[in-house]
This record gives sequence, structure tokens and C-alpha cells, in this order.
Amino acid sequence: MNQLTSPQGSIPDSRFQERLASVQLRQIFEHAPIGMALLDLQGNWLDVNAQFCRIVGYSRDELLQLAFRDITASVDLAGDDELLRQLLSGEIPSYQREKRYLRKDGQPVWVELAVSLARDAQGAPEYLITQIVDINALKLAYDTLRERELTLETVLGALPVGVRLADADGHVVSANLASLEIWCGAGGEMRHEGSYRAWDAATGSEFGEAEWPLQRACATGQGVEAQLIDILCFDDTPKTILCSVLPIVGDDGKMFGAIEVMQDMTRWLTLEQQLMVRTRELESRNKELEQFAYVASHDLQEPLRKVSSFVQLFAKRYAGQVDETGQSYLNFAVDGAQRMQLLIDDLLHYSRVSRGEGAQTPVDLERVYRALMQDLSQVIAETGATLECGPLPVVLGEPGQMRALLQNLIGNALKYHKPGRSPHIRVSAEIDADGIATVHVQDNGIGIEQRFFERIFVIFQRLHNRIEYPGSGIGLAICKRVVENHGGRLWLDSTPGEGSTFHFTITTAGVENEAG
Ligand code: ADP
Repeated sequence: MNQLTSPQGSIPDSRFQERLASVQLRQIFEHAPIGMALLDLQGNWLDVNAQFCRIVGYSRDELLQLAFRDITASVDLAGDDELLRQLLSGEIPSYQREKRYLRKDGQPVWVELAVSLARDAQGAPEYLITQIVDINALKLAYDTLRERELTLETVLGALPVGVRLADADGHVVSANLASLEIWCGAGGEMRHEGSYRAWDAATGSEFGEAEWPLQRACATGQGVEAQLIDILCFDDTPKTILCSVLPIVGDDGKMFGAIEVMQDMTRWLTLEQQLMVRTRELESRNKELEQFAYVASHDLQEPLRKVSSFVQLFAKRYAGQVDETGQSYLNFAVDGAQRMQLLIDDLLHYSRVSRGEGAQTPVDLERVYRALMQDLSQVIAETGATLECGPLPVVLGEPGQMRALLQNLIGNALKYHKPGRSPHIRVSAEIDADGIATVHVQDNGIGIEQRFFERIFVIFQRLHNRIEYPGSGIGLAICKRVVENHGGRLWLDSTPGEGSTFHFTITTAGVENEAG
């Protein structure tokens, strides 16, 4: 600056002013926060400022040896040449464009470029003036943003639920295909919401403009959670949709929009209704069948008892008077009548269980087990069985049914033992955090193939004939009924030849007491 402060009068005022202007310009050029450069008409740099050197990573001296084409990304060269041609031919007075330079380290850098032409006193093109703004960070941020936008659009497009995005005033700014299909049918266009109608499915009251879930959420800043809404679509089709709205809140805690998610429930609700009707029909048919089985088995008992006792009476009274063939016929008749009696008893028992007769009270399964041990003592002795029992809980159940359940499971474990191997049976239980007990009855018997795991619970289904193992095939059907009557689950694990474990769940009495 010193050389500018002329000793009074030594530099004529006009020259001093000219010099001052040129030095000021130089300083502006040098310290400008944007890149600046002068180029000759062939594109060689005549001068560059410090900021431009920073942008492209070359020193001033290096750049003055180069032309702009040397460090322009090849994809942008054709665009540069064409605009330069238009500028030099006078078609355009200046131009602006986004382009990529290649930095000295080889990395591309996005810049916003403004180019104009300086002319001499005669108006002939003299040199080019360029201004360069580094927009690399901006461009990368934009690209990332755009990628996110595209990802969001793709996700929204692929979603099977309707999604609409709204600004803070509740104006819809974006709606995915599924939402358009809900409101407008396939390929439809969204009209203003006012031309559609909607009602709160719970109360039946129609929404005013401000009461639509999206509008409500935007007005109050509160989300709307899973509201069932009846709507009339573009073509007046009635539908029922499930609608939720979530406000979108910025880092500053202010809501800047909302997202609405909707699902067409019409089909599901219709299906649910149909299912309910079918279930009611099935329940009533089932009740009729149970009633029938109960009445039939109950009423059959009496005549059967008569047949059975008279056949036995006949056999006794006329013993010796009938020949051998007659005697064997009589034996068949007695055997048949007894088996039928057994079946009818079982059937009656099963229908009693099915009818869920009897009130539920606390039942100590350990006491039930001990009582059973007495009843089964003969079989236990005959088979040489050993039984172990872990602590068993007090459960909430119908005492008769609980007894039948354990009796059938332990009875089977004794019955289906492997020839030549004494039954070893273990009854145990554990209780989970919700107070639900799982009881296990484990044996070392013949086991069951996995493919029969379902079948054995069906009434009268057996895997063996009566000579191998006697039975009517009703025991496990009763067990299943009992467990289901008590809200539990019955299942098994088994390895053929090694043994089976039956498991069932049941509520312990403590839980019910606490709940009550
Ligand atoms: P039943 O014992 O009168 O045949 P169930 O309904 O109690 O009728 O059992 C059905 C079938 O399941 C039985 O015929 C038997 O084949 C099989 N089964 C039941 N429990 C066991 C067990 N502990 N081990 C092996 N097989 C079993």
C-alpha cells in the first residue's frame, strides 16, 4: 500500500486514481471468497486467484502452464466447447453452468462456473473472465438427499399399505400407489379430500374437514392411532380403512409434517364377519352333535344292559343244554355286549367332558396323583412299573376332569410299555412367570411315530388292535377335550422304541385367585 501514498503532487491525481483502482481490483481478485480466473481466447489461463487454486489443488504457477481443458472432466468438455463457441460468436453475452474440474489429486470437484467476455476498445473479443464457486459439498449433499428421496419413493411404492405424506398444514404432498388405489381405484388420481366422505366407524359420525385424521394430527401435533374409518371412494364405493397418523418432528422439536398410514380392511372385515357366522353355525352344530351323542349313549345304556344281562342269564341257565357251536355264539354275544357297554360308557364320558359339565375349583394335582396310584396299584404291581412324581401344582380345574386327564395319560404310559421292559414313568411340572403350569408325563414305552401325532387325539383312532393292547381309542380324545376346556394345550414328543412324553398346560390356582 505504501507505494500508493504519493508524496503530495508527485503522481498526477488521475494516474494515482487509476493505479489505486487497479490495485483495488487486484486485491478484490486475489482475496475474493470465490474462484476467479482470466483466460485467453484459446482457454489458457492468464491469471488465477488464490481461491481457485484452492478449489482445484494446483499452484498459480502450475495453472498458468495449463489450459482449462487440461483439468476439465472429459464428460463436461463438449458442453464447455459449445458454450464457448456461442460466446465468442456473439450468440450469447455470457454463460453459467455446473461442471466438474479434476483436482490435482485426481478427484472431481463440482463447480458453478460463470463466464463472460472482455472486449477491447474496438469491441473485439480480448479475454475471458470466469468466476468459480465450489459446489462440491452441496452437490454431494444433494445427491445423498436425492438418493434418499428415491429410496423413500421406491419403498413407498412397494408398500402394500397406503401411505400419504403431508406438510405441517395437512396438505398432502405425496401419496403412494396403494393409497391412491384405496381412495381412487387402480390408477386413479387424488382429488381434494373434501370431495370424499368419511365417518368414524366406532361412532358413525361423519368427519368435518378439520376432523380427518391427517388434519387433526397436523392441527394438534398429536398422532392418531389405528382408527377404523368408513369411507366413500371416488366412485362412491364404501370401504372401511384402518388409519394411523404420526407427526414428523424436526431436530428443533417442531412438527414439519405428518405421515398417514392406511390399510383397506373391507375384505378382512367381511371375511371376519363370515368367519364369525360360520363359527357360530359350527358351534351350534357341534352342540347338537354332542347333545345327540350324549342322549344316544345315555339312552342306549338301558336296552344294552338288558340285552347283556339276559344273554348272560341265558348262558348261565342253559349251560350244558346248548351244543358247542351254540355256546361259542353265546360267548361272542356276551363279549360283544360287554364291549359295546364299554364303548357306550366311554362315549358318555367323552360327551360329559365335551359339555364341560362341572365348576372349576383349585385342584391339587399331587393329591389326584396319589389317589390314582391306589387305583392303579394292581396294574403297577403286575407290570413291575416304577413311578416318580416331582412336585405338582394346585391348578384351577374341574376335579373329575383333572383326574380323568392324569388317569388316561398315566394309564397309557403303563399300558403301552415295551414287552420285556418294565414301565418307568415320571410325572413332573414347572410353572412359568405367568403362572401357567406345564405338566409332563414321560414313559419308556413303545413310543409313537411322528406321523401319528395328530391322529391319536381323534376319537376312536387307535394304532393297535385289541389283542395287542386293549382299549377303545377314546382316552386321548378325552384328554384333549379336558385340556382345551381349561384353556390349555396338549402335545407330545416321542421316539419309537424309546418312549413318549405327553405335555399339557394349565393355569395354576394362584394366578386365577390373584386375577379374581
Ligand atoms: P386307547 O389307549 O384306548 O387306544 P387312546 O386315545 O388313549 O386310546 O390312545 C390312542 C392311541 O395312541 C393308542 O391306541 C396308542 O396307539 C397311542 N398311545 C397313547 N398313549 C401312548 C403311549 N404312552 N405310548 C405309546 N402309544 C400311545
